[in-house]
Amino acid sequence: MLSTMQDVPLTVTRILLHGMTIHGSSQVTTWTGESEPRRRSFAEIGERATRLAAALRDGLGVTGDERVATLMWNNSEHVEAYFAIPSMGAVLHTLNLRLPAEQLVWIVKHAADRVLLVNGSLLPLLVPLLPHLPTVEHVVVSGVGDRGPLDEAAGTAVQVHEYEELIADRPAVFDWPELDERAAAAMCYTSGTTGDPKGVVYSHRSIYLHSMQVNMAESMGLTDKDTSLVVVPQFHVNAWGLPHATFMTGVNMLMPDRFLQAAPLAEMIERERPTHAAAVPTIWQGLLAEVTAHPRDLSSMARVTIGGAACPPALMEAYDKLGVRLCAAWGMTETSPLGTMSNPPAGLTAEEEWPYRVTQGRFPAGVEARLAGPAGDILPWDGESAGELEVRGPWIAGAYFGGVDAEPVRPADKFSDDGWLRTGDVGVVSPDGYLTLTDRAKDVIKSGGEWISSVALENALMAHPEVAEAAVVAVPDDRWGERPLATVVLKEGATADYASLREFLAGKIAKWQLPERWAVVEAVPKTSVGKFDKKVIRRWYADGELDVTEL
Ligand code: AMP
Repeated sequence: MLSTMQDVPLTVTRILLHGMTIHGSSQVTTWTGESEPRRRSFAEIGERATRLAAALRDGLGVTGDERVATLMWNNSEHVEAYFAIPSMGAVLHTLNLRLPAEQLVWIVKHAADRVLLVNGSLLPLLVPLLPHLPTVEHVVVSGVGDRGPLDEAAGTAVQVHEYEELIADRPAVFDWPELDERAAAAMCYTSGTTGDPKGVVYSHRSIYLHSMQVNMAESMGLTDKDTSLVVVPQFHVNAWGLPHATFMTGVNMLMPDRFLQAAPLAEMIERERPTHAAAVPTIWQGLLAEVTAHPRDLSSMARVTIGGAACPPALMEAYDKLGVRLCAAWGMTETSPLGTMSNPPAGLTAEEEWPYRVTQGRFPAGVEARLAGPAGDILPWDGESAGELEVRGPWIAGAYFGGVDAEPVRPADKFSDDGWLRTGDVGVVSPDGYLTLTDRAKDVIKSGGEWISSVALENALMAHPEVAEAAVVAVPDDRWGERPLATVVLKEGATADYASLREFLAGKIAKWQLPERWAVVEAVPKTSVGKFDKKVIRRWYADGELDVTEL
């Protein structure tokens, strides 16, 4: 029997039209580094997005499901692109501006981007790449920055346009097409540390459903009374879905543009008083150091979504003291990204909540999860059996982009035979459904046939008052196969030595897991999206570049 319900496609267009009308007075505020930020209402953004769509179609000939790339910071123009491009039926392709040049070139070619939107401040990055981007015909520049070198590099092969001029005289109405909700809306390549980057293609439907989940009270649960400081880049998994989710509910956005250092972030928070923020742990580590040295009022920011890497419990405690509650979320480019959030169950005291807060959290209804053991067997949720996390759901990737006119690809190490995403994350799930990740499959330390969690060691080390950051990697060991190497960044003026750090761990970590190899580093190397880059540390070790002390 068929249902009697209407079958209305779930599209980004619908989110745009809703946001610009029902929540027309909500605002996107973009930091400019000058005395006043740039403020635009959702109504203005919607109108400008409409004119951008007209400019892309009538001015630059964008048709069908062509990819349109952005090389941009978080700002209102990028939000306009977020809505204009998918709503006209094209595919928004956000480029990660921190990727190495050769990967960026590879990605633009793979997606065959013909039109590229760029911020003027990023031209020094784009200009040297341009001769290597044969598919690019149009570059559209917005914001401050010298255009001279671009005009020179573009020559006759590439047309350069000013964003504001391009959209200026376009009609403020657009005949938005009726789209299939399963059609591609946006794409993002993984920041993958091995092999070529892999393209994840989000559908209108997956974005719509994911946005609804982001808005649920058990996830970020924001309303039009909130302002969210969106530090997580728009090129990193759609800024965790915030631009879409906020247009559904009228949440105001505060966009840092290129001002991502701790000092301007602290100033932004004090002046604009966001109630929420979203970013990876390294941002919060940096901000904490900043406000410890130069106190600022962060009190408006009651809730923070922290994800992309494990949140050290010590960081959570430090922010608790500032009245800022960090709530961990786990996800991946492949999961749109919301996979879990660590809201504790109801009815607990603060003390009882703690063991839940330090997990990765529980799965929403839209994300089904299972743990696969080494032989592919499905493990119980008993809080003890550790396996690789596999997930499926309407906003989880089932394949990667295979290239223009090519079939999607499903590598066996990324997808199970029955179609679940193999996350490469190893962990346990408690009987009440809370996930605790103990490692990346490739980072876990296999010592004498047992697993040592590098994350557990890092968290314990970062709870030491003199340790700013710590990263632990596996290094080869003749006797045990692998052993942990602890690399630490000490706070200024620290006097702790390795023996005392090891002693500090002794109470918290099983004795056989304690590292005997130690090295101080100036900073933990980070990936393009601000996560610990452990392969660099492994390479430093292999190349003898670290001053290692063995206890
Ligand atoms: P990306 O696709 O770049 O967002 O990377 C996804 C990976 O980041 C996941 O597979 C995890 O290894 C890691 N990750 C994301 N969120 C968390 C979290 N809350 N705790 C631990 N690891 C995380």
